[in-house]
Amino acid sequence: MYYNNETFIYFNGKFVKAKDAQTDLYGQSLHYGYSVFEGIKSYKTDNGTKIFKAEEHYDRLRRSAELMHIPFSYTTQELTDLTYKLLSLNGLSDAYIRPLVICSPNMSLSKGKESYLTLLAWEWSNGYLGDKMRIMTSSFQRPNPKAFLVEAKVGGHYVNSILACQEAKDKGYDEALVLDEKGNVAESSGANVFYEKDGVLFTPSKGNILPGITRETVFEICKELHIPVKETFFKPEEMRGADAAFFCGTAAEIVGLDSLDDIPFNKNWDDTYSCLIQEAYRNLVRGKSLKELKNELKVS
Ligand code: PMP
Repeated sequence: MYYNNETFIYFNGKFVKAKDAQTDLYGQSLHYGYSVFEGIKSYKTDNGTKIFKAEEHYDRLRRSAELMHIPFSYTTQELTDLTYKLLSLNGLSDAYIRPLVICSPNMSLSKGKESYLTLLAWEWSNGYLGDKMRIMTSSFQRPNPKAFLVEAKVGGHYVNSILACQEAKDKGYDEALVLDEKGNVAESSGANVFYEKDGVLFTPSKGNILPGITRETVFEICKELHIPVKETFFKPEEMRGADAAFFCGTAAEIVGLDSLDDIPFNKNWDDTYSCLIQEAYRNLVRGKSLKELKNELKVS
């Protein structure tokens, strides 16, 4: 599903066939989750294939490596150029791109000595066009920021995401809403969250979340469209039964939420700011400027 005999990846300094790439079994990345990675998307636009927010994603990858003491010397420009080359080698346009930085053989609990960059990409043609999600408050908490550096995108953090997401699926929901150690809403297993009440959007403040690039894009959209948005800490009770809510992330884009713990969000989706933001985001990734969008969406 992710690759076939013809797929190219960038691995350890060169482009090779995915089927020929090999790694060792003696590394901290595999054993301890000591790796950093990104999730990026490219889109077909009127001006060719464009990687959405490449600079922001690769700056975050470099920052994640730095926070984890993983030596990593690629510049954002080099990483972007390599990614466009990878997309072209694989004939990809609408794609999901997964950069991964792993460490050389070393089984100790000290910092990485050398790292290897892998770039993978596969076709991802449709965003979430589908239904709104039914979500539940997770019994798991997000990693405690005093135990992990939560603003870094680190492999090991995602064991928590798997537990939370699977618990929700096992209970018949689509996704989990995960709280921080104080019981405030943090995020989902792999996306940030916003809710809308009386014409204002609310999203958790930084500190216990991965501050998403899509979250930042939502702020940009709100600014341009004059939609009020507040970063604050809040409990799930404040969110339950609000007018609308959505998850946002590179993979999910903007996905509307149907209910939290079986309590529906009240307003007709099409009449919400959340819906407008979803539409704006869909257009933005396809290369339309926010100014153009404002005219099309007929907002002042
Ligand atoms: N939170 C978590 C835990 C995530 O894994 C992601 C996806 N990277 C996000 C938030 C959203 O981040 P972004 O918008 O940068 O994709």
